[in-house]
Amino acid sequence: MALSPTAFLVHQGDLHFTESITNPVSTLIESIWDSGHQFARAITRNRIYFHQDLDPICEGMLKVAAKRATRLPFHEFLKHFDSEIEKKSPVQHHHQSRFFESPIPTPTSFRDIDHSMSFAMELAKASNSSVGSILIDDHFNLISWGWNDHFKNRVLHAEVMVIKNYLQQFKKKIPEKCLLITTLQPCAMCAGYLHAYSEDFSSLRIIFSKEDLGRFAQNSILIPGSDLYKKSKLTKLPCQSKHTKKP
Ligand SMILES: [Zn+2]
Repeated sequence: MALSPTAFLVHQGDLHFTESITNPVSTLIESIWDSGHQFARAITRNRIYFHQDLDPICEGMLKVAAKRATRLPFHEFLKHFDSEIEKKSPVQHHHQSRFFESPIPTPTSFRDIDHSMSFAMELAKASNSSVGSILIDDHFNLISWGWNDHFKNRVLHAEVMVIKNYLQQFKKKIPEKCLLITTLQPCAMCAGYLHAYSEDFSSLRIIFSKEDLGRFAQNSILIPGSDLYKKSKLTKLPCQSKHTKKP
């Protein structure tokens, strides 16, 4: 049967591609990292070819976990793919589900924002990570958790793990009016991930303990005026604030 590629890259003798219709560029990058391939870093440095518009999740993931990408007109894209597949071994990539057990017992609910934030901090510590995140509903019930594991898998930032854990348990987008409590301000990839998997992105509330002034966080759909924000054409953003502990 003929393949219907939506994004691909060539690395040495392999042709890595996906047929995913939703967010092909991020599906390709994420699956390469999730596969645990020892050369994931080298593979994702190759130019990715695609033919659709990029959503915020693809734009953010390209910035944080890959290197370069080129959009080609559909017929040129297919021609390029067909000429490569004759010479290379095909490696197909799909969206992969993952679930990560918490390293510490998880409370079912929290008293308030301070209590939630101290659990996110404990989570970061217990997982030997610099960042911990949790998702709670508007009654402070715990919905999901994550920490940063990007040394092994560049895509696995804490917020991405929060969403992966949620998707694996509930098989649907995160509900309206959730609160993301995170120890570090989300980067462009995490912002795109939250956007892609939220029922209503603008009803999400984001509370972070530490500002991230790096380029990955400051050029994000969550930062009005930034390039990615302008590209996204979003008009309503989640409410975001820095956590200040009650005296
Ligand atoms: Zn991130």
